[in-house]
Amino acid sequence: MQDNKELYADVIIDIVHEKVDRPFQYRIPHSMTGYLEIGTGVSVPFGKGNTLRKGYVTRISDRPEYDPAKLKTIHSMELGSITSEDRLVRLAAWMRRQYGGTMIQALKTVLAPQKAVKKLEEKTVFLRWSRAETQEYYAQCVRKGRSAQARLLKELLEMERLPYSLITAKLNVSAAVIKTLENQGIVKIETQAYYRNPVKLQGIMQPGKQLSQGQRNIVDEIMREYDQERHGTYLIHGITGSGKTEVYMELIGEVIRRGRQAIVLIPEIALTYQTVVRFYKRFGERVSVMNSALSAGERYDQCKRAKEGEIDVIIGPRSALFTPFPNLGLIVIDEEHEATYKSETTPKYHARETALEIARCAGASLVLGSATPSMEAYFRAQQGEYRLFQLTERLTGGTLPRVYIADLRQELKCGNRSIFSLKLQELMKDRLEKGEQIMLFLNRRGYAGFISCRECGHVMKCPHCDVSLSEHKGGRLVCHYCGYEQPAVNKCPSCGSKYISGFRAGTQQIEEKLLSMYPGVKVLRMDADTTKKKDSYEEILSAFANKEAQVLIGTQMIVKGHDFPNVTLVGVLAADMSLAVNDYRAAERTFQLLTQAAGRAGRGEKPGEVVIQTYQPDHYSVVHAAKQDYHSFYEEEILYREMLRYPPAAHMMAVQIFDKEEESGQQTAERLGGLVRALAEKEKPGDFTVIGPAPASIGRINDIFRFVFYVKCRKYDKLIETKEILEEEIQKMHVTVQFDFDPMHTF
Ligand code: ADP
Ligand code: ZN
Ligand code: ZN
Repeated sequence: MQDNKELYADVIIDIVHEKVDRPFQYRIPHSMTGYLEIGTGVSVPFGKGNTLRKGYVTRISDRPEYDPAKLKTIHSMELGSITSEDRLVRLAAWMRRQYGGTMIQALKTVLAPQKAVKKLEEKTVFLRWSRAETQEYYAQCVRKGRSAQARLLKELLEMERLPYSLITAKLNVSAAVIKTLENQGIVKIETQAYYRNPVKLQGIMQPGKQLSQGQRNIVDEIMREYDQERHGTYLIHGITGSGKTEVYMELIGEVIRRGRQAIVLIPEIALTYQTVVRFYKRFGERVSVMNSALSAGERYDQCKRAKEGEIDVIIGPRSALFTPFPNLGLIVIDEEHEATYKSETTPKYHARETALEIARCAGASLVLGSATPSMEAYFRAQQGEYRLFQLTERLTGGTLPRVYIADLRQELKCGNRSIFSLKLQELMKDRLEKGEQIMLFLNRRGYAGFISCRECGHVMKCPHCDVSLSEHKGGRLVCHYCGYEQPAVNKCPSCGSKYISGFRAGTQQIEEKLLSMYPGVKVLRMDADTTKKKDSYEEILSAFANKEAQVLIGTQMIVKGHDFPNVTLVGVLAADMSLAVNDYRAAERTFQLLTQAAGRAGRGEKPGEVVIQTYQPDHYSVVHAAKQDYHSFYEEEILYREMLRYPPAAHMMAVQIFDKEEESGQQTAERLGGLVRALAEKEKPGDFTVIGPAPASIGRINDIFRFVFYVKCRKYDKLIETKEILEEEIQKMHVTVQFDFDPMHTF
């Protein structure tokens, strides 16, 4: 560094979620150059009176943004150990660089909202009646169909005492139901200030299971490396039920024994009552659960408890990554292939990569688990960056289901116009007669529910978005992007023909069809419409688990979480719908969905069968999913990604441009795209490629036009450099641009 060069630091004052606003630039005194880094706590003169305030450095540069003569100088810097705030600020700086956006957006992502929590207390519910009395009352509830009461009593018979929030949020028992039981004197609600007096989940703590040889080996290997201060990344590839969660819990136990803490990420949708209780049983009140139902105050409170060493384990979705543990030792990401681990808002970070960075800084190990690992994770494992472990046996018994592929083209040729293939009809009839349960899985909500004119081909579209409207019950036409609605049409607005109608195969239509074929059969439907209410997702699943219905119809939501031992038939109605999407991850997503859906059958003692209906029976994602053969799928898919240089074989950056005016949006896109093309010309051909710009596949949403271009390169750093060049340009332009690195879908 040159001696006399002046350096400047951006400093953020008040590192509090709500107030984080804009950084202020200060001059760095020469005595501090070389010591000051991003995240360092500093004391700076602020405001008119120049009172000293605490702040954090968020950026260092050699360019003053104002007249340097007017800039104030940093007063002093904090020495000594790194605080959890320093670490979060550094992480935010890393995220900003890695994924784009502003430092403020990054800080808001990592910082928990700071809300005054009035009273730190937690309610628990416990049984007052004896077990025998409760048992009897429980049986009565079951008989009388009081399912919410029954659900709660059943759990209390096993657990004695449950956190109130767990009952309402995860068991889906309303406050009114708990109140009813309290009024009858069956249960009691107790309120405790839980800082001073943490809730003890009495008498329910359970030690871990005796691990199988395969499980033991994984735990031993990871802990052996851990104790040598080698904190690697590990991928556990094992089918559902092969004992991955048991491995995570054993590892967490080991890490806690060494005085450190663990973060466990689980997709929100799989964060069911059963999962949560399993962790409670193992680690008691040292566990905390985070989910989107928590209020800001509760989240703040949890972060505080974590910081002060009151808890050892936090379980939650993506955002639980930012829990400020003092001495993090382990991060677990279950179902690491899930798309929800990627943030949809700027910074569009991926939890896997971010976890890796957090683990690196904290000296922690990272464990990933999945039955169908993402191409990314498996590729890294093949490259030797991650260590791969396999678990191959299902520990709960149950055999892999038998899978049939029904060729819908063939069915049509034979004159079967129903949405159910002959094989599926045959097996459904059999199950309904036997009283066993069936799951029918449709690839996408409202799929192909579009309305078109059979005379002129006109498709009914949303007037604000570039997508077709879906037909809902009663004929209403709904836009799934902006929520626009209009009544049914009986005449084509384009040619006046009355032959305008929908291709009926949404979840509702399947339900109607089923009811007409098997009158009286009890059906539950789960899709975005029936799960709008916060708790309805778990409500539907528990109703199905309690055998309140024989058939469950749903979109991808039904293939996750919950175990249903009585399900012996799974029908996948249109396996290739997700292949039709023009997207480089389409085959991967199809394979994952089919494998998961097939895995839902035969979890219990009775063997299961699966019917996959498809127009593309020869597609490799369908063929390998039917055989539950992950490895063969991976081998074919990675060839395709290599050939076209898609992630994970290379990296890809999507640049989206948004504009109210179509023309100026296009101009911006072309200008930015041109800038990148000029950069590409300096590189070896093929090393750095630009695709586009072009209108996004949905060119308009909510009257905002969208354009996109993609940059592909093997080196991630090269893409970051490109992003930084674009960011400088964008600053001068007043346009909205979003970056997405290794996007989960194309735009
Ligand atoms: P996964 O996370 O891979 O789906 P789990 O850890 O949930 O698998 O295990 C599946 C089932 O097998 C659970 O009911 C669990 O209690 C049981 N289980 C796991 N490990 C063992 C073991 N070593 N011995 C006996 N049962 C086990
Ligand atoms: Zn028409
Ligand atoms: Zn719309």
